[in-house]
Amino acid sequence: MFVDQVKVYVKGGDGGNGMVAFRREKYVPNGGPAGGDGGKGANVVFEVNEGLRTLMDFRYQRHFKAPRGEHGMSKNQHGRNAKDMIVKVPPGTVVSDAESGEVIADLTEHGQRAVIARGGRGGRGNTRFATPANPAPELSEHGEPGQERDVVLELKLLADVGLVGFPSVGKSTLLSVVSSARPKIAEYHFTTIVPNLGMVETEDARSFVMADLPGLIEGAHSGVGLGHQFLRHIERTRVIVHVIDMAAVEGRDPFEDYLTINKELKEYNLRLTERPQVIVANKMDMPDADENLKKFKEQLEEEYPIFPISALTRQGLRDLLFAVADKLEETPEFPLAHEEEEDTGVHRVLYKHEADQTEFVITRDPAGVFIVSGDAIEKLFKMTDFSRDESVRRFARQLRGMGVDDALREKGAKDGDTVKLLDYEFEFID
Ligand code: GDP
Ligand code: MG
Repeated sequence: MFVDQVKVYVKGGDGGNGMVAFRREKYVPNGGPAGGDGGKGANVVFEVNEGLRTLMDFRYQRHFKAPRGEHGMSKNQHGRNAKDMIVKVPPGTVVSDAESGEVIADLTEHGQRAVIARGGRGGRGNTRFATPANPAPELSEHGEPGQERDVVLELKLLADVGLVGFPSVGKSTLLSVVSSARPKIAEYHFTTIVPNLGMVETEDARSFVMADLPGLIEGAHSGVGLGHQFLRHIERTRVIVHVIDMAAVEGRDPFEDYLTINKELKEYNLRLTERPQVIVANKMDMPDADENLKKFKEQLEEEYPIFPISALTRQGLRDLLFAVADKLEETPEFPLAHEEEEDTGVHRVLYKHEADQTEFVITRDPAGVFIVSGDAIEKLFKMTDFSRDESVRRFARQLRGMGVDDALREKGAKDGDTVKLLDYEFEFID
């Protein structure tokens, strides 16, 4: 398959911070706690949009950071949750974690959504920490950090536009001058033939995939793999670009060429003649081309548009691409009678598996400093408000509860030793 691939960074929004506040009432000098919770940070959500054809847009934007939740407020007012950040992807996009390679989502249907980076929950305000023993806690949490990771998007490219025409009329040349991005070519099903395929972007930023259709058809004819993949290419191909050598370099008559190829398309019996055709009069830079084009137009009965171009000098390409993109927009797909659906190897379910979070790991740097790291402990750290003693004491309790103190002692930590967590240093007190 031909694969368009891109790596992007995603980060869910952090949760809003919880608030420490107290009620102020007449005649009540020290009212109860009244600090609201922070709002939830936004998720980064990928959503399928069937209007998209390639991952071209991601070449220009590779960072997606969702907004954070609103902070909690006094009078027990909660911060607002942030609205999810929706990122549109083309159908057929497979998203995987860049580090583990694990598939996160296989997005196929229009409108289908998957959360790619979770937003953090809001931190709790001090109201939530009140207990009979501590009715007025000076304690709140910071918001939970949003999930962040690098993900790889992969799209198996299918041809939207098929090039047809005799050999040497300039199909490959045309493809090479209009397709800006060269997709990576991975293993292909029709082993005998590697069809020409490229991604095209028009000046007004529409994109589509163009392929040498005879290449595909010959591949299918040679016996290998007239399977699901091939039919999907043909179904997806909604516009045919018929390339004609208007200079008649090889001595054939351009109009005869045109009829011959159309007859062949009919024989394939794949509804190919039902598709709109755009006729390309190529090699217009050559001496006889103008004369031939005039004759060709007189003979043509159908109302197909003709675009005179030169793939060699790159004349006329802009208008041709606009016309093709317009036609694509107004043409639906042409479903073919499939044998039963072949297993494409990727299951169409969402994988919600999350890597196990390591609670903590202790290492020592060359200077003897104890370094504590790990997802769970780092999250706890980020959610602690170190400007308040009560929060700091709670953090110390939580560390003890996780077994960090014991583990440090086991590793030889003594009273007064330095312990490092992220960018912060503490003293180990035993
Ligand atoms: P394909 O077999 O249809 O893929 O044709 P190619 O793209 O391989 O082109 C066949 C030959 O025609 C090559 O020598 C090209 O350089 C030449 N050719 C393609 N487009 C043009 C054009 O617009 N003008 C001229 N003069 N030659 C062209
Ligand atoms: Mg070719």
